[in-house]
Formats: sequence, C-alpha cells, structure tokens
Amino acid sequence: MHVRSGVFCLDGPLAPEARFLMQDFRLATNRAIRAGLQAKVTSRNALSKLIYKDFREGHPGLYAKHLASAFAVAAGILKNHRRRMKGLKNGRTVRPPYVKRLMMKAVNQGYRLDRKEGVIDLPIRAGLHIKLRLVVSQYHRRYLDDESWSLGSLTLLPDRVIIAFRRVSLKPYAPKSILSLDTNERSLDGVFIKECTGVPLRAVFPDVAIIQQRHHDRRKKLQKKKANDRRITRALCKREGQREHDRVKYRLHHVANAIVSFANSQGSAIVLEDLRGIRYKKGKDLNRRLSMWPRRELHRIIEYKAEEKGIPIIKVDPRYSSKRCPICGSIHHSRMGTEFECECGWHLDRHINASINLLQTASSKGLVGGLRFDPGAFRHDAMRILYEPAMAARSEPNGMSGELEVVVL
Ligand SMILES: [Zn+2]
Repeated sequence: MHVRSGVFCLDGPLAPEARFLMQDFRLATNRAIRAGLQAKVTSRNALSKLIYKDFREGHPGLYAKHLASAFAVAAGILKNHRRRMKGLKNGRTVRPPYVKRLMMKAVNQGYRLDRKEGVIDLPIRAGLHIKLRLVVSQYHRRYLDDESWSLGSLTLLPDRVIIAFRRVSLKPYAPKSILSLDTNERSLDGVFIKECTGVPLRAVFPDVAIIQQRHHDRRKKLQKKKANDRRITRALCKREGQREHDRVKYRLHHVANAIVSFANSQGSAIVLEDLRGIRYKKGKDLNRRLSMWPRRELHRIIEYKAEEKGIPIIKVDPRYSSKRCPICGSIHHSRMGTEFECECGWHLDRHINASINLLQTASSKGLVGGLRFDPGAFRHDAMRILYEPAMAARSEPNGMSGELEVVVL
C-alpha cells in the first residue's frame, strides 16, 4: 500500500467553528494522553474502552468519529513516549507528552471531499458541518483526478490541510531487461542488459556532494562565530540543515525520475545494492556516515517511484562487488584507480565493474528470473548518460528527454 500526503493551503480564512473543533480535539487528545499514562495503556482500543464513556459526556460537541481519532492520535503519542522512556538510562525521565499545536485529525469516514471542486465537508457535530475550500495545484490534480488513489486520514491545521492518499501497490511486471546500478557518492554507475548484450550507463550528480560540503563548512563557521551563544548556533545550524536537505532532495528526485522512467520505458527490473548492512564504528567516521544519507535517500526515492509503476526492484548484498573479477571470480584486495584490472585480462571502469558484480549476485540467487548475461558480451565502447545536472535545467517536467545522450568513452 502506498501512502502519499498532499498538503493543501486553505482558500480563505478558517471558520471560527473549525478553530473550536481543533481546540476541542486537542483537549480531548491531551486528556486521553494523561489517562493513558495513568492507566499505563498505549493502544487505541484500550484507551477507548477506558475513557470513551466519560469523554462522550465531557465533549458533547465532538463528533464521535473525531473522538475515536483523538484516541488514535493519543495512542501514537503514548507509544512514542514509551519508546523514548525505554531508551533512557540511569533513572532519567522525560516530561509527559502533550499536543501543543492546534490540530485535529479525521479518519477517512470522518469527512467528505469533493475531488472535483476541492472542497472538504467536515462534520463538527450532528447537524453542523463546515466547508473548507482548498487551493488546488496541478500537482494535487494528479491525485484528486485519479480515482485509484483513495482517501485516507485528514489532518487540519490552522493554515493548511494534509490529506493522505492511498493506493494498492501494483504487482511488479515480468522484466524484459535489467538495469543494474552501483551507487556512489557522485554517481550511479551501471549496466543496462537487453537481449544478452550490456551497455554501460551512468547518472551523475556531483552537485549533491558539493552542496553537502558547502553546508558542512558553513555550519562549522557558524559554530565558531557564534560559539558564545549555543541557542543561536543551534537555530542557525538547524536552518542550514533544512536548506541543505531540501536542495539535496530536489536533485535526488531528478536523478530518480530519470532512472525510473528509463527502466519503465524498457520494461526493466532495477538491481541495487542493499545499503542497510553498511555500518560505521560509533563516532569514528561521522563525515562518511553523513555522506551515506543521500545514497540511502536516493534508493528510497527510486524504490517508491518504481513501486508505483510496477518496476521490480532487486536488492543485493554488495560484499566484494568492488573487488571481484566477474570473469574469473578472483578477488583483488588492493584498491585500484578508476579502472578495475585483472590478471585474466578483464579490465573495466571500477564502478561499472561493481554493477556487473551486483547483477551476478542477483542472478546467482535466481532473483532476475530467466534473464541471462555473459560479461563477455559487454560493449566497452559507448556510455549512456541517463542523467546529468544540466538536464535538470532543461524544461522536461520529469527530467528525462526522449533521446538519450551517448558519449563515447
Ligand atoms: Zn579475472
């Protein structure tokens, strides 16, 4: 099941009744949290059993479905709180949680949405409904007009509305070709295999590492400059971090779009390395750990975009992928330059070679079905560029042009 949240701005000021509703909802949630803490229960059902009757009388103005939703919100907060308490050592405690901001959440049967007009009908209590008019952009239209996206919960905030759209995942198709990708700090490098021949390809994103470095330096400078005021330093660094995050994410989306639309147009499965197993020693290599984030994020984006289109994703253990010769199988422990060279005569770009190894691992585990590939049939000549930063500057809405660029190595 996919869930995407659509954030909508409100067209016009919020009705005072909606504000009262949010206040009542927040109050009910906070009371439920307190009751849950006292009775040591964290599940929604337990909360409901415990306090529903009392609350029904205490909040006569709150629609029953909204009250149940307040219990669900409280249960979520209680669960988080319990998890945090577990992580604490030496008798340290944290303050009991509560909802501070004005909000309310409605379950999918607790509101109605006119998908065409972009108007929400929100019941407050029997006989009293309010209408919320949403600002609908073209991006929102993709979800509103497509009935395969069903409606999930609705979150109302003083200035915006968040609607969860849900859709059952497509069943992955049977691949006709394979795209195997090795993920590096500045590029995805791989091979595209169709009808037993392989072509090298690459998506480059050098700007991601550059942005990270620049923000890293800037944060260091801020920390030095405002060393006498930690509160300001923290606030400034947080803002820096958010901006960095947004800028990196924007670029990763472009890269992922290029990969996914190429795979989709070719009916490919995508092979990626499983990055979860990669761990660094505590505190030792902080910079390297941070630089892993964009790679994991890129995988996450590629995976969900692929899932939406029914593209099969195959994750494999990357062990030895950069050290093994795909022809004779010998393992080379010494670090090489940009080229992987073996005594058996095989030589290839180091990263592309790693992607062939990933594919071989997937194939040996039977994960790619009947598709076969012999590294000997690999063409060394041309490199396809699936993505480069200049493409983002062009006007293609999804960062992909119809014609792929071919660069001769
Ligand atoms: Zn070899």
